[in-house]
Amino acid sequence: MSQVEVLPASCPIDFVSPTSNNFFPRSYGDQHAWAAHINELISSSPSTRILDSSLPAADNRDEDDAIFPDLPPLKRGHPAVHLREGIMNAARAAEAHKEDAEQAFFVADLSQVYRQHEKWLRCLPGVEPFYAVKCNPDPYVIRLLAALGTGFDCASNGEISQVLAIDGIDASRIIFANPCKATSFVRGAARVGVDMMTFDNADELHKIARVHPRAKLVLRILTDDSKALCRLGLKFGAPLATVPGLLAKARELKLDVIGVSFHVGSGCYDSSAFADAVMRARSTFNMGAEAGYTFNLLDVGGGFEDGNFEETASVLSDALDRYFPDRNGIRVIAEPGRFYVSKAFSLATNIIARRAPMDDTEDAVSRAEIDAEQPRVMYYINDGVYGAFNCILFDHQTVHPYVLSLNGSFHVPSSEPLHVSSVWGPTCDSIDCVCPVAKLPSSLRVGDWLGFDNMGAYTVCAASQFNGFEVSKVVYTTGNAGGHEVRDALKAFAAEG
Ligand SMILES: *Cc1c(COP(=O)(O)O)cnc(C)c1O
Repeated sequence: MSQVEVLPASCPIDFVSPTSNNFFPRSYGDQHAWAAHINELISSSPSTRILDSSLPAADNRDEDDAIFPDLPPLKRGHPAVHLREGIMNAARAAEAHKEDAEQAFFVADLSQVYRQHEKWLRCLPGVEPFYAVKCNPDPYVIRLLAALGTGFDCASNGEISQVLAIDGIDASRIIFANPCKATSFVRGAARVGVDMMTFDNADELHKIARVHPRAKLVLRILTDDSKALCRLGLKFGAPLATVPGLLAKARELKLDVIGVSFHVGSGCYDSSAFADAVMRARSTFNMGAEAGYTFNLLDVGGGFEDGNFEETASVLSDALDRYFPDRNGIRVIAEPGRFYVSKAFSLATNIIARRAPMDDTEDAVSRAEIDAEQPRVMYYINDGVYGAFNCILFDHQTVHPYVLSLNGSFHVPSSEPLHVSSVWGPTCDSIDCVCPVAKLPSSLRVGDWLGFDNMGAYTVCAASQFNGFEVSKVVYTTGNAGGHEVRDALKAFAAEG
């Protein structure tokens, strides 16, 4: 059995070799020189995936950073520019032998969150979004959405405190959308004035009657979640058959039930699930009337995907028109999470190690066969499934790496031959595989950077520090055109608060 490392030996040890430093500038003292440099990079490397010749230079005005002095600075410019700036900063830090110089980092484009909100208003004008905080409780995202007037779906006392700690958000803008809450959390909600909360079982009614009798209750019903990546019906939702009993119990306990909620499942790829769910909600409204309640709230939950949003919105609107033709006096809300943030975050990771898999095939012919499909090189990057890529395990995502920098340059020639590789996280656990099969340039080396887009949903929030690896930090930008709307909204919100 042979165990041969097939990698060429010319692998730089530091992640940017000083001799190949023809693209990373050494001095950044002069903002204009730097901006010119970025523009040059952009125009000189048309084959790089992230390049767009319309990208303006990053420009940052210090006064805007003071909008929220306790938060990281708010930059301007296209996120691709900030991915590059972060990589160049890392190169400088590495040259100065700073610890953790090559740390992975996110770039969050708040203008993307803004655009998602515009899309929501355009496609679902009659449905008020309550952002699901668990999806990404980022302090800027929450402030921006608060500025834009959304409500918030919180599932714990911690999330409620985080939202209420922000000046300018009233408790009436929160729905406590966890149907199974600890009694102390219900009491905590009562204390801070969060009245709207969901339930799906009789014990919950007893808890609420005891510690928060003025609560405005929303009955979470079970719907068909079989078309979702993350099926929530396994855990939550009252089957329709149990609804009359639950409502009778609520009456007996003199509780105020104001409406119905559902969640078709997170990552719902079949828009028709919403039509079926709205139909069930209609039946539940009718049962409410029979029990003597006049419901005035319909909460259509989360599960909205950016990819099929227009279609989902149209299915949902049609179902609302069909089953709730006269919506006078009925407030329709939703709890989107993923929809708002998924596309807004990109992650830059550094290749910290690389090796060839053990080659135990003696026979050259079968080796050639295996080579065609089997990853030939394993890359180890500095974020993994215990960190940002927990979305692979918990959120059933697949991620797609692309090359951000190659051999100290942002220029990735399109002629670069590709080979099949695998990408792994930094921990000592073999479950920490980010990408089992990826086609990447064969000249990738230790020190090069890989990027991942669509990293905003269910990533940072559930990242751990397992094995002593820090959670990747976030760089914020208001986007390509400077994000005037985003800045104006944040400034107005800060002034109000
Ligand atoms: C997770 C969750 C959401 C958000 O789901 P998305 O698929 O991210 O839109 C909304 N409501 C409840 C109750 C949830 O548990």
